[in-house]
Amino acid sequence: MMAVRGPTRSGPVTSLKLVTIDGDSIQREDVPGHHPGVQSKDSVRVAAKDVLADGVVAITLVRPDGDRLPDWTPGSHIDVVVPDSGGSSLVRQYSLCGDRWDAHSYRIAVLREPQSRGGSQYLVDELAVGDLISIGTPRNHFKLSPARRFQFIAGGIGITPIMTMIDAADVDGA
Ligand SMILES: Cc1cc2nc3c(=O)[nH]c(=O)nc-3n(C[C@H](O)[C@H](O)[C@H](O)COP(=O)(O)OP(=O)(O)OC[C@H]3O[C@@H](n4cnc5c(N)ncnc54)[C@H](O)[C@@H]3O)c2cc1C
Repeated sequence: MMAVRGPTRSGPVTSLKLVTIDGDSIQREDVPGHHPGVQSKDSVRVAAKDVLADGVVAITLVRPDGDRLPDWTPGSHIDVVVPDSGGSSLVRQYSLCGDRWDAHSYRIAVLREPQSRGGSQYLVDELAVGDLISIGTPRNHFKLSPARRFQFIAGGIGITPIMTMIDAADVDGA
């Protein structure tokens, strides 16, 4: 499993650290900020790509070896490494919006940003089923707090993290 470290919320991407978690061993590989791509052994494969709406696709990601992916909680997102046209890379974040009890795939939904510098444009227009792409381990900065009742309000592509929260609230009977 590839973990991507480096970009901070407050500064530009200057370097990426790629961490492969492979069974008991952890291999580390430092990758310069501008690199042409990521080795396939560290990547996940696009298992499905579905058009959900105009300019919005759902992308299903699996490990090439079919093994399980790290667990995640509602509100989690992953970093996705996207090659850009200049031969370097961009890192963008996408909320996980699939079934979190499915340990073998992640699902993200991506809206093509009209003024995209390449992230969503690549994922929506160019990424194809069978392609390999690097992702980070799930992180959650938007956790669902326990409550007896919830009221969810979301607009546009902002629905993605909320969908998994609604599922969790249903499971909890809230
Ligand atoms: C935690 C998290 C979860 C997210 N989840 C999702 C999700 O589930 N689905 C989804 O579609 N997106 C999600 N996003 C947004 C996603 O990460 C990308 O920001 C989005 O896809 C746009 O990326 P881009 O490279 O296409 O566009 P960018 O090139 O980053 O452009 C985005 C906007 O910034 C403007 N811009 C470009 N350059 C500059 C500049 N120098 N100064 C000021 N403005 C500029 C552009 O005009 C455009 O309007 C999430 C973001 C975060 C942080």
